[in-house]
Amino acid sequence: MVTNKSSQSTPSRSADFFHRLASAVPGILFSYWLSPDKTSHRYPYVSEQIRDRFGIDPEALKQNADAVFAIVHPDDLDGLQASIFESARNLEPWQYQARLRLSGGDYQWYEAHSRPERQEDGSTLWYGQFHNIQHYKELEQELRDSEAEYSFQAGFQKLVARLSARFINVGFGTIDDCIAELLESTGRFFATDRAYLYAFNDDYTGVTKTHQWCRPGVTSLVDEDQSVPLGATDPWGQKLLEMVDENEVVFIETMEEAASVFCVPVRVQGQVVGFMGMDSLTARKWRDDQADLLIIISGLLSGALERHLLEEQLLNQSIRDPMTGLHNRRYLMPRLHELVERAERYDENFTVAMLDIDHFKQINDSIGHLGGDYTLRRFADILADLVRSTDVVARFGGEEFMVVFPDTEQVDVHQTMARILDAVRQGHFRFEGRDIPVTVSAGLASVRERDDRMISVDTVIGRADHRLYLAKQAGRDCAVDISGVLRI
Ligand code: GH3
Ligand code: MG
Ligand code: MG
Repeated sequence: MVTNKSSQSTPSRSADFFHRLASAVPGILFSYWLSPDKTSHRYPYVSEQIRDRFGIDPEALKQNADAVFAIVHPDDLDGLQASIFESARNLEPWQYQARLRLSGGDYQWYEAHSRPERQEDGSTLWYGQFHNIQHYKELEQELRDSEAEYSFQAGFQKLVARLSARFINVGFGTIDDCIAELLESTGRFFATDRAYLYAFNDDYTGVTKTHQWCRPGVTSLVDEDQSVPLGATDPWGQKLLEMVDENEVVFIETMEEAASVFCVPVRVQGQVVGFMGMDSLTARKWRDDQADLLIIISGLLSGALERHLLEEQLLNQSIRDPMTGLHNRRYLMPRLHELVERAERYDENFTVAMLDIDHFKQINDSIGHLGGDYTLRRFADILADLVRSTDVVARFGGEEFMVVFPDTEQVDVHQTMARILDAVRQGHFRFEGRDIPVTVSAGLASVRERDDRMISVDTVIGRADHRLYLAKQAGRDCAVDISGVLRI
């Protein structure tokens, strides 16, 4: 209690004056006493506000300070006590921030300032005040939040800028690298564990994973869910089909493999062709605007895919024959030159077949030019069906076609040639209700033949052409190779 020998003549006036003063300041004034052995403590004085705010009787604190320490937030208590002991030891002014429980039950931040004085008996007495700093703490938090938000937004803008710059320059063949980069940087930015791209099959009955990024240490699911059928009955399938219909982001909680999954539709020329997904293996809080941000990213991806598709179409137009869809001569010739080089370097062989439809002029004459065109298309389909995907099929000109069999000896193509000739013979060519009998003749040549000497592209073509002529001479509907007519 604040009593003073010199003012003992008017104690009540002085005490009254002090109480009024104490009740008018915003903080709570106190004196705090700690015994020399630090085992007992009390508040000789605490202003009345402690009763209103914390429901603690100041009179009781004169005996024991425990009631105040009981309302300190558990996380702040150890630090608070340590700092008091430190101030008792070095007698430096004491200052501390801690959360205190109000009488309503909520915690609010308070800050205390006081000055210690050592007493004759070795005890310590502090004089000071504590006051509410909740408002400042909230402002501080808001500032921290808005700084974090600002740096998130700035980071996102940077990500989008970098990806769009990358995608603007996307060239033929680099799209896969760009997608891989997009998945990794987006996955990292949103702190997910996996980011991937799935493509729907044409009738939306299944999806196929085309690209995936996994955070280091996270297991890849490529083998397990490379291709997934989409049943309308399983919840995941339902969600995805919903995503296609509504064209919006879906969020799936607690799947088997991941705690939460985000799926964003990817569109090409107005149609949902796939989706970008992100897994988090642990339950986490997503940002409210996550879906909007992912739509921006998937928009970049859609743009790049569209451009890529367009480039591919343009490229295809220049290297394919529009009528049959087969490669044209512009594509074929450089392939042949490459193959000659390969054959030289790796001591390989390759074989070509030059094919020419028999009496095609008669076909044109009997069923008209459109019927002739139909015959060419149908013949092209048969050819493409019967060769391996690594073989090159091209329309060489008019009704002449060429098949290139890389890394193949002449005798090894006899069987394929037999199948082609037979398929054309049995081909059921039918135009405007009329059956058209069609046969084809072929000449074979290889880059290395008996003499084992390399020959040029022109010579290979010349030999094949000459043997095709021999096949026509031999009565057509047959093939001629180095050993002569093959009646197959
Ligand atoms: P052969 O058995 O000796 O090969 O006889 P052919 O009549 O097939 O021989 P030729 O090479 O003299 O005739 C080819 C014909 O193919 C001539 C041309 O009018 C026709 N032709 C070339 N390109 C096309 C095309 O794109 N469409 C159609 N309908 N006819 C074409
Ligand atoms: Mg012909
Ligand atoms: Mg011809």
